[in-house]
Amino acid sequence: MGTHRERRAPDIMDFLRPEAWEDALTVMVERPSTVPIQGGTSVMVGLNLDLNRPTALLDLNPVTELTRWEQLENGTLRVGAGVPYARLISELGDRLPALAQAARTIGSSQIRNRGTVGGNLGAASGDTHAPLLAMGAVIEVESSARGARMIPATEFFLGAKRNALAPDELIRAFHVAPASGPQYFSKIGKRNAMVAATCSFSIALFPGERRVGTGLGSAAPSPRRALAAEDFLAAELDWDGALDGAVARTFGNLVAEAADPVDDVRATAQYRRHALSVIARRALTWAWQDHANNGKAA
Ligand SMILES: Cc1cc2nc3c(=O)[nH]c(=O)nc-3n(C[C@H](O)[C@H](O)[C@H](O)COP(=O)(O)OP(=O)(O)OC[C@H]3O[C@@H](n4cnc5c(N)ncnc54)[C@H](O)[C@@H]3O)c2cc1C
Repeated sequence: MGTHRERRAPDIMDFLRPEAWEDALTVMVERPSTVPIQGGTSVMVGLNLDLNRPTALLDLNPVTELTRWEQLENGTLRVGAGVPYARLISELGDRLPALAQAARTIGSSQIRNRGTVGGNLGAASGDTHAPLLAMGAVIEVESSARGARMIPATEFFLGAKRNALAPDELIRAFHVAPASGPQYFSKIGKRNAMVAATCSFSIALFPGERRVGTGLGSAAPSPRRALAAEDFLAAELDWDGALDGAVARTFGNLVAEAADPVDDVRATAQYRRHALSVIARRALTWAWQDHANNGKAA
């Protein structure tokens, strides 16, 4: 006789579909336990596995402004939280190359057609966080009670699967400058596709400012920059010359030191640190080759 997991009788769940952003914000106040859903590639997994059973889902798809992006007068890109990865790659890949590279590694084409950066941020877990940190992105969130606020990516990730969103807030967009230099994203996993990252790394060169941005994913309780590694490059890089191999190696080691990884089913902490030092060194080398050729990564 086999054992059967007792399935709960299906509770009634409201499916709310406001068309106006303001109405969506109102729902978050009036129905505090409501779960927003955009692409559903994360929310639906939880529902299917019976991990959570919210009393209401707030479908953000009818709020069509979330699926648009624009370039503001100051040149910054404002990308709606609901722009799916597939469009991010095809429409913004030239301006946000590291983010597009990360998007290309996410799930399968079905997942990339539905999944969004808004959902990746809402889940506070995922592959877009490292490039958002490296690029210096800012997250636009809003509540009906307090209006909009802009949260730098460095302040958005608070811990494992925890973000800075208040319970009544929704993510509206992220803001980021188009790449002014080469950018790369690199991810280690058990296989090439459909895999959760063992660790990831992103780099953005800002040649005009003689500055480098970094982001580490799956390498600490929350995604983070490798600040000492950034400072080291700011001091050591000869922006008009070749990349010194010793500088690249030290950079990789400093990135690894910035991590605070755990041992888990995917890898040991020691492996993660080693992998980070390698992918950081490689990413810097690729970016420097592009810089030397005066181009950007595709
Ligand atoms: C087979 C498979 C493979 C996957 N592979 C990857 C991968 O390689 N890398 C990776 O990073 N992820 C992966 N994922 C996870 C998921 O696809 C991504 O996290 C995706 O970005 C989620 O976006 P979504 O729009 O589908 O989010 P949803 O599922 O709609 O929402 C995710 C979370 O964000 C919240 N949310 C959504 N929109 C908002 C908003 N505007 N404001 C506030 N909260 C919001 C939701 O309430 C929920 O908590 C995979 C998932 C599956 C099923």
